Amino acid sequence: MRRALVSPHLDDAVLSCFAALGPLSTVITIFTGGPGGDDLHSTWDAGCGARSSRELMDRRRSEDLAACTAAGARAVHLPFRQQHYGEDASTAELAAALAPELAGADEVWLPAGVGGHPDHVRARAAAFAALPAHAAVWIYAEYPYHQHVTRWTGAPSPVAALAAWFAGQLGSAAVPTAIAADPETKRAAVRCYASQLGSLQTTVDGTLLDDGPLGAEYAWLARRSEPPPHGPG
Ligand SMILES: [Zn+2]
Repeated sequence: MRRALVSPHLDDAVLSCFAALGPLSTVITIFTGGPGGDDLHSTWDAGCGARSSRELMDRRRSEDLAACTAAGARAVHLPFRQQHYGEDASTAELAAALAPELAGADEVWLPAGVGGHPDHVRARAAAFAALPAHAAVWIYAEYPYHQHVTRWTGAPSPVAALAAWFAGQLGSAAVPTAIAADPETKRAAVRCYASQLGSLQTTVDGTLLDDGPLGAEYAWLARRSEPPPHGPG
């Protein structure tokens, strides 16, 4: 089983679908390019303790290689820049770069866009446009952003909360599968993203590495007969 996992940023796949990673899996991260010059380009980058955004992206690529190695997966870095660095590649250009990396995969995992980050929504659309003909398709809920749907909305269960989110955002009645990741081994891999941990923790009240939320992963098995949920971008 060859598994290709599309990650918008350098950390999303390891954070969100760790249980799917292993020796025959490849994490393809789309937005890994850094800006030129020595400026800091966002408050997020400043919060990561970087002196420049270029330096930060160099560090983040190294962190991802270490994390994917810890997860037993291969890492591929596409050179596109994320939105806050002025990315202007079209979805078609992203799909053209993704297609050869997804070719030959038996299973493709792509981000749902929980949280609505424009880079995630574009990654989803590009991945759908680049799918190989016969691969099974899983759409994963992004951690830690799905916490804002699964924990803090008052829904009866995380699965019910995400199913309602999926129906509302993407017009599909599909129900996600809850997948258990081993929190101990996942925590070791996630800690490789040292530059990101402090800022990510602030988005979830410091619970990022707690066993419960860290080990709970969710993904939808997409039916190829259904129209893909492209969304904007
Ligand atoms: Zn991301």
